Amino acid sequence: MRVADNYFRLGTENAFVILAKAKKLESEGKKIINLGIGQPDFLTPKHIVETAKKALDEGYHGYTPANGMIELRQGVSKHIKKMYGADVHAERIFIAPGGKPSIFFAIMMFGQPGVEIVYPEPGFPIYESVINYSGAKAIPMYLSEKKNFSFNADDVLNLINEKTRLLIVNNPQNPTGGLIEKSEIDKLADGLKKFPNVVIFSDEIYSRQIYDGKSMPSFLYYPELYNRLIVMDGWSKTYAMTGWRLGWSVWPNNLIEKVTKMAINSYSCVSAANQVAALAALEGPHDFLDDMMKKFEKRRSLIVDGLNSLPGIKCNKPGGAFYAFPNISETGMTGEDFSEKCLFDAGVAVVPGTSFGQSCSNFVRFSFANSYENIEKALEKIKKIL
Ligand code: PLP
Repeated sequence: MRVADNYFRLGTENAFVILAKAKKLESEGKKIINLGIGQPDFLTPKHIVETAKKALDEGYHGYTPANGMIELRQGVSKHIKKMYGADVHAERIFIAPGGKPSIFFAIMMFGQPGVEIVYPEPGFPIYESVINYSGAKAIPMYLSEKKNFSFNADDVLNLINEKTRLLIVNNPQNPTGGLIEKSEIDKLADGLKKFPNVVIFSDEIYSRQIYDGKSMPSFLYYPELYNRLIVMDGWSKTYAMTGWRLGWSVWPNNLIEKVTKMAINSYSCVSAANQVAALAALEGPHDFLDDMMKKFEKRRSLIVDGLNSLPGIKCNKPGGAFYAFPNISETGMTGEDFSEKCLFDAGVAVVPGTSFGQSCSNFVRFSFANSYENIEKALEKIKKIL
């Protein structure tokens, strides 16, 4: 057997490896507090679950159009209008099993040897992995701790040249919780006018997890970019639906057929009953979201203050998502050593920074998608081992 060469360029998402390690320790009788995983620790709201059950009873068992059911695409179009005042026709909306397939399809559509793709570092590891797989050159856009993991639009624009085909932005950001302010996105959107051949992929999967009363600085606010803009969002993080596999993305008119073809060549379509439930999620009620954010706000203060009180740890306050990304260099350990020690000595699962880029060895990602009590306990346990 000979596996294709490009397979070996594919990376992975280490959070899943950590999860497997934590589960193994648990099966051996160890108590583990999981601050490694990137999914809300809430159940999907009941009305969404009930809608899915009803859809199954009513016979939603077959294939749907590969780009998603029209009712759901219209629902997403309405949602976009409500959130951002933007007019995006349902024909341009693509429903996929989660946010990830849109990342994969966009990168594979534009990536090839000789081409450059700009992506954030620290960043969601799938970007770099798939860029490498496609044969394109991965160009990191470094997000600095000093700027609270945001960027200067000019620094990003300086990375673009005639070889650049795709620019990936993620806001709010995994793993740092960084929020790039609207003023900086305005500058970037304006500067991109000089590079009409560059496609923008905006990963906005954490669009509803923003703190301090700020609103989402979506790329959907720039209709002048619509002919080369892909915006991805979904149900996973907003409605605690990671396991349902449901995401939406907006594509330029001339790419929607192309991305649909990729769906037809891989998974065909998203489960019909799940799509019915996804529409119910968009239609509300949405009080669940406010409750979830109130909990996340409290935990954010707990974890940031708690980490900053520990010797050798410095932690910025995240503006979005549910991650803290402290610098642990003054503990004398690397992020990897620190994470191993946390898991095996303190029973707390966290993810080393290098899972999000080679330049991140001084950092560790803590997910605060766990209860207030568990975060308190985890901080106590880490304090003891330090
Ligand atoms: N994009 C980012 C930045 C993420 O953090 C994640 C999940 O952790 C995804 C995309 C994938 O989302 P989904 O589970 O909907 O595929």
